[in-house]
Amino acid sequence: MINMEMCMRCGSVREDLEVRCKRCGGPFKVVIDFPFVKSDLRANFPYIKEWVTLGEFNTPMIRKNNVWFKLDSLNPTGSYKDRGAVTLISYLKGRGIRRISEDSSGNAGASIAAYGAAAGMEVEIYVPENVSGVKAKQIELYGAKIIKVKGSRNDVAKAAEGSSAYYASHILQPHFRDGIRSLAYEVVRDLGWRAPDYFFIPTSAGSLLLGVYEGFKHMLNDGIIDKIPRIISVQTEQVMPVCAKIKGINYLPPTKVTSVADALVSTQPYLLEEMVKILKETGDCVVVSDEEIIVAHKELAKNGILVEYSSAVVYAAYKKMRLSGESVVLHITGHGLKSIKFS
Ligand SMILES: [Zn+2]
Repeated sequence: MINMEMCMRCGSVREDLEVRCKRCGGPFKVVIDFPFVKSDLRANFPYIKEWVTLGEFNTPMIRKNNVWFKLDSLNPTGSYKDRGAVTLISYLKGRGIRRISEDSSGNAGASIAAYGAAAGMEVEIYVPENVSGVKAKQIELYGAKIIKVKGSRNDVAKAAEGSSAYYASHILQPHFRDGIRSLAYEVVRDLGWRAPDYFFIPTSAGSLLLGVYEGFKHMLNDGIIDKIPRIISVQTEQVMPVCAKIKGINYLPPTKVTSVADALVSTQPYLLEEMVKILKETGDCVVVSDEEIIVAHKELAKNGILVEYSSAVVYAAYKKMRLSGESVVLHITGHGLKSIKFS
């Protein structure tokens, strides 16, 4: 059946764009029970009738020092989140939604604001009171209404969910997470329809991990690849709830995240149990320090690849693992121009 969403925790079918499962409060996912279309990757998103496109997807993958870098930083708003924003916003537009809210002062906020603007929607972005930086400016330039909220990150999310506009959360909406499948398809295609041995990603809220896993699984089920790569989730010493859970370490989140990797902020991710399940099946988690991130960031830049600190974590983790001979893809999530600070 095409166009079905199901609760990831109790299996209830989503009835009408509800954000959380009515029965158990769990997150929904898009059910992938259609054949993989090799000749046209966009055909693998059959719930979209008309794409609100800004030129996303098909980002370059380059090889350097025996490693592949998938440069998703070269998507239209400068981050991989455009893969999720394009599918979510295109779907919502098709369902007649005209006003949306979202909570993110970072890449997700910028991406939702851009695609919302392209779709002619009214967009409200809820952000922490003290927000600053390039990404917040980017959101504003796309014409979104910025609403500053006092209190914790959770209070910001609550305000966005409580808005009279439809809550287009990049964490809860299944059609956002689902767009990330496209990343797995492109990586496998660009390696000659083979899965890499390792796929490194930064991990925060979980939409990247859950989304890309579904893409690999889709191709595995259809016999396109013969294995799912080992997915290595990378977290920082300050924000490592997933790694702590996998390794059985006690983790106490800091009251304030001060790491240079400022996009990796989910100290208590809503999708934690779903992430842990995938990594136990087919991956692992690696923690890197700020010192390691800064060295990795500098080294990439000296090779001509300018990334966000939050993206440099994958290179730091790769160096730490000392792999040799395996095929490795590092996912570069966000552009370096977004995290430049002028003093
Ligand atoms: Zn449920």
